[in-house]
Amino acid sequence: AKRNGRNDFQFFNNEMNVWAVERQATEADLRKAIDRNEFVLHYQPKIDLASGQVTGAEALVRWLHPRRGVVFPDSFIPVAEDSGLIVAIGRIVLRGACQQAKTWLDQGLGSFVVSVNVSALEFRDKNFIRSTREALQETALDPCFLQIELTESVLMRNVDSSIPILHELKQLGVQLAVDDFGTGYSSLSYLSRLPIDVLKIDQSFVQRISSKSDDCIIASAVISMGASLRQRVIAEGVETQEQLNFLNTHRCNEGQGFLFSAPVPAEEFGRLIRECVVT
Ligand code: C2E
Ligand code: CA
Ligand code: CA
Ligand code: CA
Repeated sequence: AKRNGRNDFQFFNNEMNVWAVERQATEADLRKAIDRNEFVLHYQPKIDLASGQVTGAEALVRWLHPRRGVVFPDSFIPVAEDSGLIVAIGRIVLRGACQQAKTWLDQGLGSFVVSVNVSALEFRDKNFIRSTREALQETALDPCFLQIELTESVLMRNVDSSIPILHELKQLGVQLAVDDFGTGYSSLSYLSRLPIDVLKIDQSFVQRISSKSDDCIIASAVISMGASLRQRVIAEGVETQEQLNFLNTHRCNEGQGFLFSAPVPAEEFGRLIRECVVT
């Protein structure tokens, strides 16, 4: 038994090594990617469910790796967060999204809001407010067309220190959304005190919507809570007509998901708007 234990330990050690080497490779690659700007933003439309109009676009980062091809955020954002590189990547994303929003507005494509995802480390970075202000100024984007998405867990982990940052962001004139709502154990008394414009129902709750009424409880609870707090509610991960019907019946404000469109490159998003997607 003892020997087995030792073998297990060595095996575990080797695994750790492989993991560490791979992780280092990604981190070194990520540094190069930042220098060479290998990132591209895709945009996913948000649809007003009552009118069928596009109200917004969520910017989602992709890494065009010279050898690996398109790398999705789930496989590099965690490394970027651990290494602190997310702050540099976040600036690129913010700047790119503001630039794109301004371009679309100038093209008269309609007045929709572009949202960006912001990680804990960026949100808590002392230069975050300043770099957001600079991105807006340098691209001459009216701040009301920028939305910042923060996950519920990022906001609530240290809620007392979140509140002043949120107020500073609101003073810039940007919109604030709580992402992945329903997964982070919000204290409701805090939630009503935060200057939040939008609640995004986490896609796990949306995908649970089915004909069995028990599965819909959280989605409908978030919708009515948003209405009482005077926040807009958007359902993410809408994939089926059945889910859409439920959201319409419960007067959810907006929807986002593969049923309407996957995230697409900026040019394609522009085409999509011109052809005016309908639900
Ligand atoms: P998220 O912010 O919750 O974004 C929603 C994710 O769900 C996106 O995955 C999107 O492509 C996907 N999705 C959209 N509609 C559907 C649907 O109908 N069904 C299903 N199953 N999935 C759908 P993506 O683009 O791979 O991004 C994953 C996560 O990576 C995001 O989750 C976000 O947390 C993070 N992320 C993406 N871009 C950025 C960024 O620029 N900065 C930071 N800090 N994080 C980002
Ligand atoms: Ca998001
Ligand atoms: Ca989300
Ligand atoms: Ca998520």
